[in-house]
Amino acid sequence: MSSFKTLDDLGDITGKVALVRVDLNLPMKDGSATDVSRVEAVKPTILELAEKGAKVLLLAHYGRPKGQRFSTMSTSFVQGDVEKVLDKEIMFIPEVMGPVVEQSIGILANGDIGLLDNVRFWPGEEANDPEFARGMAAHGDFYVNDAFSAAHRAHASTEGLAHHLPAYAGRAMEAELKALDAALGNPEAPVAAVVGGAKVSTKLDVLTNLVGKVQHLIIGGGMANTFLAAKGVDVGKSLCEHELTATANRIIDEAAHAGCTVHLPYDVVVAKEFAANPASLRTCNVHEVADDEMILDVGPLATEALADVLKTCRTLVWNGPMGAFETEPFDTATVALARTAAALTQDGSLISVAGGGDTVAALAHAGVKDEFTFVSTAGGAFLEWMEGKPLPGVAALTA
Ligand code: ADP
Ligand code: MG
Repeated sequence: MSSFKTLDDLGDITGKVALVRVDLNLPMKDGSATDVSRVEAVKPTILELAEKGAKVLLLAHYGRPKGQRFSTMSTSFVQGDVEKVLDKEIMFIPEVMGPVVEQSIGILANGDIGLLDNVRFWPGEEANDPEFARGMAAHGDFYVNDAFSAAHRAHASTEGLAHHLPAYAGRAMEAELKALDAALGNPEAPVAAVVGGAKVSTKLDVLTNLVGKVQHLIIGGGMANTFLAAKGVDVGKSLCEHELTATANRIIDEAAHAGCTVHLPYDVVVAKEFAANPASLRTCNVHEVADDEMILDVGPLATEALADVLKTCRTLVWNGPMGAFETEPFDTATVALARTAAALTQDGSLISVAGGGDTVAALAHAGVKDEFTFVSTAGGAFLEWMEGKPLPGVAALTA
């Protein structure tokens, strides 16, 4: 991993103005956040800077105003939630540059926190306009990026600012980058990747990137059906992208060349209708799926074999559930494998990193979200990283 500066590299910041990019795009209902974990994630960075005497200006987007000011998308709506999590009053500043910001900085005492308005109200943000970035940078002494979840976007507040101010990774960004590096950048071998979820088409680049990097590629979920079909297995009514069987075969070939073992389920859980505990539920060999049945989970024998694979590995990276985990009992393989990974992690034999919207939900459902080495809630940025794409926000910090 190319190196980046962290808060440890800051000298005396008493009275200095820190421009801190955070993710405050909170899910809201009836005027308050339903989940404040994004604020919890950036709390250590904000409080550390404040405790060291900086004037902390929070910079964030909220919703998709597309370069226009919408009163319904002001960051002032999350001010209360941020104050609650920080246990500190903050000042809302209804601009991101100009005299109002300058006056507000004059009012803030050292260690105080200000919240700038939605940076996406200005078209220069998403256009990554250097003039816009320079305008914001004029108010700050240094820039801290603590929003990994926005790092796949080259916007003024996520990328541009790093060219105009000394740039540092915040604590959340630092932890994320270290975890991702340990999982795929410079991992301890053998490395296993679990890739599941609904469709091959949404994860083609992920699969292609992983075959060159991991020793074991474990394919589950709906996408396993496409791979099974590619091998000539009749998958009945299962979710399957038949038009991608050639692509699946190419990935299997590439894996063989790269010395990566592809693991597909050899027993599966099937049903005739997709419902909780359906009467037609049964477990069978992949070669015994009837025309009117759907594969909805990996079977118990394959799950046990996959657990044995994980026991031989030092590193695991996981994206995508093994089955239709939202509906019982099709959560069984996902829960079992997640618990195995969690136990191995707790024993110290496995470094486990997972991410993806449904994957995080599945790990929480299995009760092991806190027992993995690292669980990324970054969504799009996490997937682009799994695809092996450089993230502009990270590249700007490591330049
Ligand atoms: P993530 O959000 O973690 O990246 P995805 O969005 O790719 O994961 O996939 C999650 C979805 O895949 C879940 O809604 C799950 O129900 C679905 N899924 C998993 N296995 C199957 C299957 N065998 N058949 C149909 N859907 C499946
Ligand atoms: Mg999803």
